[in-house]
Amino acid sequence: MADRYLRLAGTAPGRFLTSRLGLPQPARLRRDALTGPLLHLTAGKSGLDLEPVLARTGLPAGGDSPVAVVLDATGVHDVDTLAEVHAALHPVVRSVADSGRVVVLGAPLDPLDHHQSAAQQALEGFVRSLGKEIGRGRTVNLVRLTEATAAESTLRFLLSPRSAYVSGQVIGVGETAVAESEADRERPLAGRTALVTGAARGIGEAVAETLARDGARVVVLDVPQAEEDARRAAERLGGRALALDITAADAGERIAAELPDGLDVLIHNAGITRDRRLVNMPAERWSSVLDVNLASVLRTTDALLAAGTLRRGGRIVATASIAGLAGNAGQTNYGAGKAGIAGLVRSLAPRALAEHGVTVNAVAPGFIETKMTASIPLLIREAGRRMNSLGQGGLPADVAETTAWLAHPASGAVNGQVVRVCGQSLLGA
Ligand code: NAD
Repeated sequence: MADRYLRLAGTAPGRFLTSRLGLPQPARLRRDALTGPLLHLTAGKSGLDLEPVLARTGLPAGGDSPVAVVLDATGVHDVDTLAEVHAALHPVVRSVADSGRVVVLGAPLDPLDHHQSAAQQALEGFVRSLGKEIGRGRTVNLVRLTEATAAESTLRFLLSPRSAYVSGQVIGVGETAVAESEADRERPLAGRTALVTGAARGIGEAVAETLARDGARVVVLDVPQAEEDARRAAERLGGRALALDITAADAGERIAAELPDGLDVLIHNAGITRDRRLVNMPAERWSSVLDVNLASVLRTTDALLAAGTLRRGGRIVATASIAGLAGNAGQTNYGAGKAGIAGLVRSLAPRALAEHGVTVNAVAPGFIETKMTASIPLLIREAGRRMNSLGQGGLPADVAETTAWLAHPASGAVNGQVVRVCGQSLLGA
C-alpha cells in the first residue's frame, strides 16, 4: 500500500533522477502544521469584512514567503477588473511556501449581469489552471460567498493542513451560520452524536476517529460480518458499535430506535464496488452496488429525517466519488450510484435546511490509499496515484478532515456542496 515512488521522489537522488527523466515530482504534503504569514490581497472593490475572520486563523499577516494567500475577488465585476487578479497574484505566486494555500474569494454569479457572470465564472478557470501549474504541494481553491463570518469555518479549513488534498475546488457558502465560539475550537462536536456507516475500516474508520477527536460520541456502524472490527474501533474511540446491514429495509427505523436521544451527524460512508463492463454485468452486480451506495442512503436519510432523529443543527455528509463525476470504464453501476449521491445532495439540501435545520453535503474522494485501492493492479494503481495535480494518492484522514469541516457546528452556511478530495484529479471537472 505504501507509495514508494513518493518516498523516492522526496530524497535528493530521487529528485535528481525524476527531474532528469521528466517524471512526476510529487511533494510531501504538510499535514501537521501550516505556519507562516498570510497575505490578504484584493481585486476589484470588495464589501467583505474579512480582516477579523482572517485574524482568527492565527496566521500572522503579511511578510515574505506566505504560507497562505487570500485573494478577495468578490468585487471583480467585468473583464477589466479581472486584470487585477493577475496584477495581485503574478508578483507573489512564486514566493508561496511549499504546501501553501491560495484561496480566491468570488461572488455568486449574477444572472442579470452577464459581464459580472463572465468575470466571476472566469475565476473558476483561473483557479483550476493555477492549481494544475502551481506545484510543490500547494493548493488553490475558490470560495463563493457574500458574507465573511458565514465562511469562517470554510476558510479556517482551507487555510489549515487539514485540507492538504483538496485543490481545484469551487465551494459555495451561503449566509446563515452560527458563528464559531471559542469553546468550539478544540472539541466542536462535544455533546453531539455522530453515526458513520461502514466505519469498521478504511475511510469510515478515519472519519469516526476524526469526529471523536472533535468531541463527538461516535456510533460505528458496519455489517454484522465486520462486527468485531467495528467493536474494536468503537472501543478505541470511546463510542459504540452497531452491527447492521445498511441495506436492510428497516435500517433507518433500527438506527432511530438505537438513538432515542437523537443524532447530530450522519455520515453515509459505506460503499462497495462490483466492477464489470456493462456487457458482462449481471443484474445482481448492478443492484447490489446501487442498493448499498445509493438506495440505502436515500432510505435511511428519509427515515431519520421523518422520525425527527436528526436534530436541528444536524449534518448529513454522503460519500460520492470522482468515478461518479467523471465516469470510469467497468463502473457503470458504481458511477451511477455515486452520481446519484450528488443529485440527492443538491435536491435535498435546501429543503432539509428549511424544514429540519439540517445541512446535506457530499465528499467525493479521488484516489485514496486504502485496502480497496491497494488491491488495484499495480499499473492502474500508479496511474490513479499520479493523475492529479499533487501527483499522489490521498489518505483516509484527508477525507475525514473534509467531512469534519462539513460536520462542524459553524459550517451551517455550507449546504448542497459536493466537495472533491482528489488532489485535483485530472478526471472530471
Ligand atoms: P472499504 O471497502 O475499505 O470500507 C467500506 C466499509 O463499508 C467496510 O467496512 C464494509 O464492511 C462497509 N459496508 C459495505 N457494505 C455495507 C453495508 N451494506 N452496510 C454497512 N456497512 C457496509 O472502502 P473505503 O475505501 O474505505 O471507501 C469508503 C467510501 O468511500 C465508499 O463509499 C467508497 O465508495 C468511497 N470512495 C473510496 C475511494 C478510495 O479511493 N478508497 C474513492 C472514492 C470513493
